[in-house]
Amino acid sequence: MPLITNNFIGIRDVCDIIIVALAIYTFLKLIRYTRAELLLKGILVLLIIQQLSQFLGLHTVNYILQAATQVGLIALLVVFQPELRRALEQMGRSKFVRMFLPKDTQAIDKSEIIVGELCEATVGLANKKIGSIIIIERTEKIDDIVRTGIVIQSDISSELLMNIFVPNTPLHDGATIIRGGRIYAASCFLPLTQNPNLSLELGTRHRAAIGISEVSDCMVIVTSEETGKISIASGGNLTRNLTVTTLKAALQSIYNPPDETFDKPKHWWNVFSKDSALQGQDTHGNTEMSFAPDDKGGNDE
Ligand code: ATP
Ligand code: MG
Repeated sequence: MPLITNNFIGIRDVCDIIIVALAIYTFLKLIRYTRAELLLKGILVLLIIQQLSQFLGLHTVNYILQAATQVGLIALLVVFQPELRRALEQMGRSKFVRMFLPKDTQAIDKSEIIVGELCEATVGLANKKIGSIIIIERTEKIDDIVRTGIVIQSDISSELLMNIFVPNTPLHDGATIIRGGRIYAASCFLPLTQNPNLSLELGTRHRAAIGISEVSDCMVIVTSEETGKISIASGGNLTRNLTVTTLKAALQSIYNPPDETFDKPKHWWNVFSKDSALQGQDTHGNTEMSFAPDDKGGNDE
């Protein structure tokens, strides 16, 4: 008996509906809290007016709206370009795709030293209330950002990292990029996030950190010169007030990931999920870290 007949809903129809429902759900989740959400609402209003004008026999209005809808479809691709790009990038960096890519062993070899140096530098900067942005590249290379700064290519050291951000020195403005466990570039200019739901107390340093984490899979450590607090931006979310322990755990999740994170997902349903290091999201777009809050030597105020 064929699976699909003219009269019955077959298994393929069910799959079809589930795929479309998932696609719509993912799309709506993707554009939530973005300017595209407002745009979509505007388009819905236009479509309703168009249907209404057809129903009421307002031919000219209907003709204009129909023409506008056709042009609008092309305009939509242009306007939604950042969201479409983000969606494709997220698909590209899913664990399913990473299973087929070779491991970056260079970054994992010296992981303990790298985590230690990064922690020491960050805590040192925070304690001295020196503002900084340190970007840790993961699978994606952000060469377009590197080009806006100065390439250094040095072994990692907390002293050098701290020195870079000393106020009124040539490289202190902008972000420093860590690539493959080395200090790769400094004084880099980042795109600012356009997220309208962020706390007003976040200035351009924190917005720049969130901005770059929206368009790449990097993790960004920020120290505030106003409060001396440490934050981390990842996947467009900002986690504030990190302690030494939570900072270290976040860094270890990058440099010492459990093998199964990259190679064998524990459960098949985790294959498409985001990294386990960052979980949950509040209404301000900030995340809660999933690390144990048992810090003893933290810098929280
Ligand atoms: P803080 O808590 O340290 O005061 P903030 O979030 O309030 O940080 P600002 O006070 O506006 O932010 O920080 C300004 C500094 O942030 C600049 O001097 C520069 O070093 C850095 N910064 C601002 N915009 C960018 C950007 N687009 N890319 C990289 N760095 C930036
Ligand atoms: Mg400020």
